Amino acid sequence: MALMRPSAHQFPVLLYHGIAAPGVVPPAGERKFWLSVSQWRQHLATILRQPRRVASLAAAASHSLVIAFDDGHASDYEYALPALLEAGFSAEFFINPSTIGQPGNMTWPQVRALAQAGMSIESHGWAHEDHTCLSDFDLLARLIRAKFTIEHHTQREVAYFAAPYGFTDRRLEREALRAGYKGVCTSSNRWARPNQSVIPRVAMHAHTTAADLAALLSGSVRAVHVPVLRHCLVSIPGHAWFRLQALRASGKRGETTPGPTPIKGAA
Ligand SMILES: [Zn+2]
Repeated sequence: MALMRPSAHQFPVLLYHGIAAPGVVPPAGERKFWLSVSQWRQHLATILRQPRRVASLAAAASHSLVIAFDDGHASDYEYALPALLEAGFSAEFFINPSTIGQPGNMTWPQVRALAQAGMSIESHGWAHEDHTCLSDFDLLARLIRAKFTIEHHTQREVAYFAAPYGFTDRRLEREALRAGYKGVCTSSNRWARPNQSVIPRVAMHAHTTAADLAALLSGSVRAVHVPVLRHCLVSIPGHAWFRLQALRASGKRGETTPGPTPIKGAA
């Protein structure tokens, strides 16, 4: 199949994970996804120079660009927010209620400050776990609990769910819509289309320079497709390994999902 440029109807959703201040070491296993503060500001300067308008997911159209952050790290409030406000941009922040207030993560007052500053606060699930491995009962219960908990704290509607690790399947997508979400965000490194219920996002990495981002936003075939090839070669086998470990740990390899189990954690 020939490599294709994104169509005129598509737009990029740029996915960030964390911003590391000088001397700060990102959490183990996440270094490849964290940008330095100066790199983050260079990315915003690049976005300012290109013609697409930064929009929320709810308002995104073919001429848009969406900025997203996953995981709810404290750096969202400390470094992402001030630079976004300076640039006049808004962004989507996908958080896990079960980890809010824990070391390294935002607190609920910080989450509310983001919302009051015009940012969208969305769901990354109740906990940062592979939702494709949850039982039917746990899956729906945790999707609903995450949505309602965030809405309770922000007093704003939560409309989107981003799958932790980017792991998703038809069942998860169906149940998320059933839980009241309007869309499910993935990490499949493709450009999105308006009004999709499954929304691909393009992950930004520690090695993604401002020049790389500019090439990507220009629709460069290489810049658009290299991340897709990397996803196919690395992420999909990684997902298979992750699921195998989960099935081994639960001792239910290949079996149907178990019955309901209580959700642990704060209300
Ligand atoms: Zn995540």
